[in-house]
Amino acid sequence: MELQNNDTTNRPGCARPLRGCAILIMLVLVGMVALIIYLGNMPRTKDWVTCYGNMEQVGAALGRYHDVKDNYPSDLSELKKEYLGNTRVLYCPLDHSRKSISSYAYHRPKPSSSADFVVAECHRHEMFKGVPIVLRLHKSGKVTVTNVVVQTNKLKAEDKKK
Ligand SMILES: [Zn+2]
Repeated sequence: MELQNNDTTNRPGCARPLRGCAILIMLVLVGMVALIIYLGNMPRTKDWVTCYGNMEQVGAALGRYHDVKDNYPSDLSELKKEYLGNTRVLYCPLDHSRKSISSYAYHRPKPSSSADFVVAECHRHEMFKGVPIVLRLHKSGKVTVTNVVVQTNKLKAEDKKK
């Protein structure tokens, strides 16, 4: 008489521990791909974070200038030394030309301009590859980061409503 083994849990090829191992390998691979994508975007993130910090310092310097002179400078070069600790903050880390007074497009606020008035902006950055963002310094000293694609789509949607 032959003994039959009906225990399927130890059959080779479909054992549960092996299936668990395959899932674990898949998770590790997915994690590695995510890490590569994340590390690939690191310099991009570092650049706009530096630019954001620069704009905050320019905003603070503009506030100090306004406190003393009761007006805003005609251009950002007037902020040098007295109002800015380090004039390096006048340049975006992605602007390597350094040909002009500052990397930032400056719009001189009027006394009547609202707190939301855009004083300076930088268009050199991407959040991720192909996702451009704009950094804006407002008269209030607040810096905002806007996703250009999202903003454009929002404006198009608002136009359709009209
Ligand atoms: Zn910038």
